[in-house]
Amino acid sequence: MKKLFKSFLFTIGLQIFATPIVFAQDLLAAQSPLDRQMELVDSIALRDMLLNEENMFPADGLYESWKNDKVRFNAELPDSFRVDLRGFVMPTTNTKITDVFGYRRRRGRVHNGIDVKVQKGDTIYSAFDGKVRITAYQRRGYGHYIVIRHNNGLETVYAHLSKKFVVEDQNVKAGTPIGLGGNTGRSTGAHLHFETLLAGKNINPALIFDFERQDVTGDFYTYRKGVYQEIDKKTGKIIESAEPLYHKVRKGESLSVIARKCGVSVNTLYKLNKMNSRSVIRPGQRIRYR
Ligand SMILES: [Zn+2]
Repeated sequence: MKKLFKSFLFTIGLQIFATPIVFAQDLLAAQSPLDRQMELVDSIALRDMLLNEENMFPADGLYESWKNDKVRFNAELPDSFRVDLRGFVMPTTNTKITDVFGYRRRRGRVHNGIDVKVQKGDTIYSAFDGKVRITAYQRRGYGHYIVIRHNNGLETVYAHLSKKFVVEDQNVKAGTPIGLGGNTGRSTGAHLHFETLLAGKNINPALIFDFERQDVTGDFYTYRKGVYQEIDKKTGKIIESAEPLYHKVRKGESLSVIARKCGVSVNTLYKLNKMNSRSVIRPGQRIRYR
């Protein structure tokens, strides 16, 4: 009897004692895969978050770092890159283009942007959501200027401003007033010099913004490596051809020498460079041969 009671107590005790242990073990057993599951959920959530972030901030995938020094932020461009233009705001409500993008034979250099006539004091707006990378002053060049890196990957430059409202590293929205139009730097008459860059490469702003119609050219702009895009002056449509190639004239070289070196005809050089047999070339000049 005594023995039985003892064993009964032992059994009870074991049960009382054992129950929590079993429970804890059960809990542990149940919890560890749950933890793993949670981890999995977490990594899926994290991956989704990163993916979303990349979709929301394609700029992060394009540029590896953030610096406030140079306008041209060179980065490796993929073979093609799609820029989301939805959510744009025109940088200015002015519509008159006073100079287009392209090579200036007269000045022997490339005009990297588009010039839009503005009145001094006209508000200039950020074209897309983004972050101000540079605000600076260049007496002989841009004057007061601002560079913004947008979430869509594009970088925009706004130059010759009379006033700047934003500071470096400031987040802006599309349509945030960033400054006032002006005539500072190398400029004759108030105008907005506007540039669009992708990984340090100047893109013709007219392929993206139509100032006359106060609109973008589409929901997306797609950059393709090795493809040169320009606007057909007759139809207003974007046409694509191979990226232009240039030859820098060396001392003593004539157009026929260059044509031979580049493997094209002299007539091709005439056509591409709007030249004729009477044209004079000088060392250092860029001659387009494709
Ligand atoms: Zn300009």
